[in-house]
Amino acid sequence: QRVGVVAESIPGETRVAATPATVRPLLGLGYEVVVESGAGTASGFADDAYAEAGAGIGEAWAADVVLKVNPPSDEEIALLREGAALVALISPAQRPELLEALAARNVTVLALDAVPRISRAQSMDVLSSMANIAGYRAVIEAAHAFGRFFTGQVTAAGKVPPAKVLVAGAGVAGLAAIGAASSLGAVVRATDPRPEVADQVRSLGGEYLAVDASQEASTDGYARATSADYDRAAAELYHAQARDVDVVITTALIPGRPAPRLLTAADVAAMRPGSVVVDMAAAQGGNVEGTVAGRTVVTDNGVTLIGYTDLASRLPAQASQLFGTNLVNLLTLATPGKDGRFAVDFDDVVQRAVTVVREGAVTWPPPPVAVS
Ligand code: NAD
Repeated sequence: QRVGVVAESIPGETRVAATPATVRPLLGLGYEVVVESGAGTASGFADDAYAEAGAGIGEAWAADVVLKVNPPSDEEIALLREGAALVALISPAQRPELLEALAARNVTVLALDAVPRISRAQSMDVLSSMANIAGYRAVIEAAHAFGRFFTGQVTAAGKVPPAKVLVAGAGVAGLAAIGAASSLGAVVRATDPRPEVADQVRSLGGEYLAVDASQEASTDGYARATSADYDRAAAELYHAQARDVDVVITTALIPGRPAPRLLTAADVAAMRPGSVVVDMAAAQGGNVEGTVAGRTVVTDNGVTLIGYTDLASRLPAQASQLFGTNLVNLLTLATPGKDGRFAVDFDDVVQRAVTVVREGAVTWPPPPVAVS
């Protein structure tokens, strides 16, 4: 069968679902690979590089298995061949109408954002791959907007203190931000309602700030909504930290809910001029009062609030490489014979969970998966 790698149509999207390096393992699975001309241009991969890796350049939408980053538009759905498979980010929980439109086209759809968070599926988890890149890039954006060094220095012209960075939420993105900020030489602190992350924070060079309040423990490694008691104590911590730190990076999310509000406008007003906040939850409503999704805002007291929602796309070559590798791992699972025949096994928990439309029928939501 033929795998098609199509160009992204959303303005500002720079990623692509396969790179020349991920074309080779797709060929190894027995597929023919066709890449739409120009699909990799914005990530720095020319048509020639794909051709050298063994791909054809041409009609990728007509393929048996179409690989894509973002959900398809109505026009793009119409380009899918009946009976084909589509593998992309879909947001199935938020987009029931998209699932219906795809089902009406009589295709099979694997949603990359529905990969269950179990150890066996980690190699296919694009959300984690992208969160890791975004966390790193959040620090780069903050460093760029901050008019000073992150590292401390003693020079002939005087002593420069290190920047102080607070990371709120120490999941995948937060840990990447902690690692990046400490490697730039900043003093890094981090907080998270899951106390089990303290060791990971320290191993990346950060100091773990515990919130002194009762909070129901997580049973599955994911945060629950925090208690009123926790939120009160955390608000005090943020208010005190806002006066002290130069940079705040917030990454707090609770699956299936709007982003928790961590910093109020009063906290931001207490920050020093020149300070920077990167709100990585801006697309989910924001952790910080005053951030605007997709934009940079400078407050009256000279604090830069960054609400970019495309942080992973700002490192397109790496993002595409990791995204493409996650896709290869998923296709390896769905090509059991390594014979170029795409065959989803509905009895496998991972494949069941990601299959949101199967041969024209909506199969979302899947039965719950026990977290391991
Ligand atoms: P996430 O994106 O859902 O949330 C980000 C962080 O925000 C979490 O650490 C969460 O605890 C924190 N948070 C929530 N409410 C907060 C609040 N009020 N204040 C401060 N922080 C708050 O989480 P994530 O990064 O996707 O992952 C969370 C955990 O799951 C990590 O331990 C990660 O290693 C694990 N994980 C496992 C797999 C897998 O096994 N396949 C995949 C992804 C993540």
